[in-house]
Amino acid sequence: MTESVTCQKCDAEIPAERFLDSDKVCPECGFHYPLTAHERRDLLIDDGTFDEFADDLYSVDFLEFPRYAERLETYRARTGLPSEMVTGTGAIGGCDVVLGVTDMHFIMGSMGSVLGEKIARCFEVGIERGLPVVIVSGSGAGARMDEGTVALMQMAKTSAAARKHADAGLLYISVVTNPTMGGTAASFVTLGHVIIAEPGAMIGFAGPRARAAIGEKMPPELQSAEALMANGMLDMVVPRAEMRATLLDLLYFVANKPPTTAL
Ligand SMILES: [Zn+2]
Repeated sequence: MTESVTCQKCDAEIPAERFLDSDKVCPECGFHYPLTAHERRDLLIDDGTFDEFADDLYSVDFLEFPRYAERLETYRARTGLPSEMVTGTGAIGGCDVVLGVTDMHFIMGSMGSVLGEKIARCFEVGIERGLPVVIVSGSGAGARMDEGTVALMQMAKTSAAARKHADAGLLYISVVTNPTMGGTAASFVTLGHVIIAEPGAMIGFAGPRARAAIGEKMPPELQSAEALMANGMLDMVVPRAEMRATLLDLLYFVANKPPTTAL
């Protein structure tokens, strides 16, 4: 029996193989499902060029927050990742870049001290090597409450790092995926020179649960990529299948030079 996936948006039954072939985009309704950090890296980066850095960083439970240590262990085992983000250098169509990718499958890709440090290192490596930075974000929870104020501080830290990179005259492309909420959306995610979202991505500060808690009613589509695009908050909405080609166009345009390897 062939395994299949039921689309959570349109209820279509999609054969598992077809779902993976379409890079986890529903072929019927176009809903974009989360990719793992490694799947995203493989989709964007030229084969064999990725050189990971900061892969020895992982979160610790420095506040002794209830169940945090246990949750970290669970997510490490489940994802095989030490933290919620993968960072490294690599090439996109022969253009060298620094790539950072958050992984929604690791505590919702929420931002703690490690994610903040990894983002900062992306910009620092970019400055050291004169490279553009591409960050692909997805964070259902924003700042990680298990790390308290230290998590919130990452908003300032990542913003300052992005500014230093920009001051060095280097390009930062922010790719936003579904969903990206809270402190990540309110810091490095929206500081890109070019901000690109996947179709249907929910992007905002207070998510539906936070709004419900304060009795605030708002149509959910107001936080969709398409609404943000219509209101001037995004530069592009690009389907997953066209993301690599779009990044290539931007990188070639800014680098003003032909690619160094075959596409
Ligand atoms: Zn669907």
